Amino acid sequence: MHILLVDLDDTIIDTVGFKKAVFQSVVEVTKLSLDEVTRLYLKSDPTQNEWYERFAAYVQSRVPSVTSKAIVDRIFQAIQNILVNTQVLSYIARFEGYKVLFTLGDAKIQEAKIQELDLKTRVDEVYITQTQKINILADHIRGHEFLWNNQTYDQVTIIDNNLAFLNLVHEQYPWITAIDPKSI
Ligand SMILES: [Mg+2]
Repeated sequence: MHILLVDLDDTIIDTVGFKKAVFQSVVEVTKLSLDEVTRLYLKSDPTQNEWYERFAAYVQSRVPSVTSKAIVDRIFQAIQNILVNTQVLSYIARFEGYKVLFTLGDAKIQEAKIQELDLKTRVDEVYITQTQKINILADHIRGHEFLWNNQTYDQVTIIDNNLAFLNLVHEQYPWITAIDPKSI
């Protein structure tokens, strides 16, 4: 039995372009500099839940005439223009086995991306987590097998753009196939 764990951000979708679109939109509405908008984004701790609420609040505190709701709305609007990696999508389509979209990040924004791009229809399961992926793997691995939803898998393929994570997988679980989406 074969399972695929495929990442979302910068694996299936281009979040670099998405962030660029968000920053440009915020610059346009606030007249803040791109550097300042970028600084506020990083300050909002974007790997943590509801980062866009903190980001919008920071922007509003700098530019009180712009509501934080207007900023959040612009972020969600930018989701409509996200680009997808068609090579990764066709890899997923060809894959024979159980397919999990395995993503780390804020549940609401990840759900919005998945819905906008109709990705639920391309996988068997969507798994959104705030726990580091290597820890989730550790919880599901027994020897050279992977246990998921009461099913045992002896073959695991991971596609993820995070090279630090791929290296950890290679080191700790050399029997798992871990692929950088750039090589697909
Ligand atoms: Mg990623």
